Amino acid sequence: MTDQDPKLMKTTELVSFLKEASLAYRNGSPIIDDHTYDHVFLSELEARDPNHPFLTEMEAEPDFGSGKLKHPRPMLSIEKSYSVEETKKWVNRINKEAQKKNINEDEINVIATPKLDGLAAYFREDGLLATRGDGNHGNDITSCFEKGVVNLDIEAPGVGEVVMTNEYFEKNLKKLGYAHPRNICVGVVNSDDVNEDFKLALNDGAIRFVPYSKLNRWEGSFQELIENHETIQEQVLKACEYPTDGVVVEITHNDLKESLGHTTHHYRWQIALKQRSIAKETTIKNIIWQTKRTGRVTPVLEVETIELSGAKVSRVTAHHAGNVKSLGLGKGAIISVERSGEVIPKIVDVVKSIPNPEIATICDSCGESLVWQRDFLMCVNHTGCPAQVENALEHFFKIHGQVDGFGSKSIAKLVEGGIDTLQKIYASNEEDFISVGFGPGQSKNLRSELDRSLVVETEDWRFLGAFGIPQLGRGDSRRLLQHYKIEELPTITMNDIEDIDGFAEVSARDIIKGLVDKWSTINHMLNLGFNLSKTQLLSETEEIESPIAGLKLVFTGKMTSGSRDDMKKNALNLGAEIQSAVSGKTDILICGENVGSTKLTKAEKLGVKVLSEEDYHSLLNDA
Ligand SMILES: [Zn+2]
Repeated sequence: MTDQDPKLMKTTELVSFLKEASLAYRNGSPIIDDHTYDHVFLSELEARDPNHPFLTEMEAEPDFGSGKLKHPRPMLSIEKSYSVEETKKWVNRINKEAQKKNINEDEINVIATPKLDGLAAYFREDGLLATRGDGNHGNDITSCFEKGVVNLDIEAPGVGEVVMTNEYFEKNLKKLGYAHPRNICVGVVNSDDVNEDFKLALNDGAIRFVPYSKLNRWEGSFQELIENHETIQEQVLKACEYPTDGVVVEITHNDLKESLGHTTHHYRWQIALKQRSIAKETTIKNIIWQTKRTGRVTPVLEVETIELSGAKVSRVTAHHAGNVKSLGLGKGAIISVERSGEVIPKIVDVVKSIPNPEIATICDSCGESLVWQRDFLMCVNHTGCPAQVENALEHFFKIHGQVDGFGSKSIAKLVEGGIDTLQKIYASNEEDFISVGFGPGQSKNLRSELDRSLVVETEDWRFLGAFGIPQLGRGDSRRLLQHYKIEELPTITMNDIEDIDGFAEVSARDIIKGLVDKWSTINHMLNLGFNLSKTQLLSETEEIESPIAGLKLVFTGKMTSGSRDDMKKNALNLGAEIQSAVSGKTDILICGENVGSTKLTKAEKLGVKVLSEEDYHSLLNDA
């Protein structure tokens, strides 16, 4: 979650933040939720500069690192309609074109299918699967089928999405803290090492490539579509077993589709119906001032309970104290609130403000006087404020992600009992936990979970991101650790960070300050011996000299000179990249015994060099 206020950003900053957020979303590790992206940041840009090119450009996808494939036809975004009026306009534009072409309205049929919320991809005639990419070229992600992604119809080439079933996600993964099945699909497609949770899902056949042609559908005329606009959407979505974010409507008349064509952004014969949630008015009863991990004090409005999209809402965030002041919020004020999908309710309008709203002056958690920083109220008692200490500890366990039992209630109990740092928590034994009020069973559990957290392998960027250094979340930790080992971090400078692509001066300053503040804790934790898997340094991959350095290899078949895993490890050490399946970007396919002909044919078709195990060894030895 970001604490940034879009209103305070320059337009260039806002656009680069939107790009970053959009890329992170497509990468499977979103930095803000969809609703905040659309209705806080994107809407700010729309209001400020409705003609900004960012609003009509195709959003770029991350490079999945595999070979590039050209799509048979461009994969574009879809125009959106939030109301029956907007859909009518779309229908009118199509009818106009139809008249020009002497096509009667009764010849035109429309179909409506669920709009899947997954990773869009194109399944081609040649059996390869490609991501959307920039719309014209995508990455070859065919290897996801070898990992266990189920292809629902290998006979039907066309556009679809890699998705996970709602049922599997709800039953198995939601409780483990995974936020959205889409992120998991992206993770599975994008990484060579699929984590255990996802492997189980793959074994279960829960992750699938679903072509749009295989989805349940409604078919009818324009008139029926307009008359039953809401019910058609409900009916189509109810029958879908995958996550959705709308309904896609398109015409089936091929000649008309062709003459309508497309803009740089979308096809004119297709539209996505989306629900804009309905706002309701409510009265503020009280404001609670919550102190967050960073010391920011956030005003939460307690309101008369209202029902929005099927959920009872009695609390709404006002984001920052500046809003309370400028919007005149407080007891008796009336606000208009909306909530879309599963996300948090948001103020869309102030119907009646109050004069001189009351603003907190002291921290509710520690009693320290609050200070203003721009629009935000801050408690600067960072080390002595229980709320900040608790939230930071909770953040560590949540981000590290390998430990159960350290939720907010346990943490509050620990902090109250004086076990208020990571150092103290990790130094505590069962008796210590019992002495602050945990039962014997739970105490035993807590200790064994801590022990487990040391042993289980964790990516070093996840570990670093867990300390909550401002501007250094997991994505940026990974980027930083591609340039410096974690042990080197206390010696790096602001310039070192600024030199890395993607870090600006402001973030470099915050990161250095954060590292200085937190290094003793980080170092202490490192010395406990966490089992960290290291991010590979970019410099190391570039510097190795070997005949296979920088090449992408696939090993297949039974090897006779040693185990295939050992050969892979050796190749990695020689600077090669190992792929799990042949793609357009593969350089060499190394074949042991008993290799199926499909693999060889595919390699040949893609122009990949094929070597026997023997040839491969002589390539290495000749150098
Ligand atoms: Zn405080």
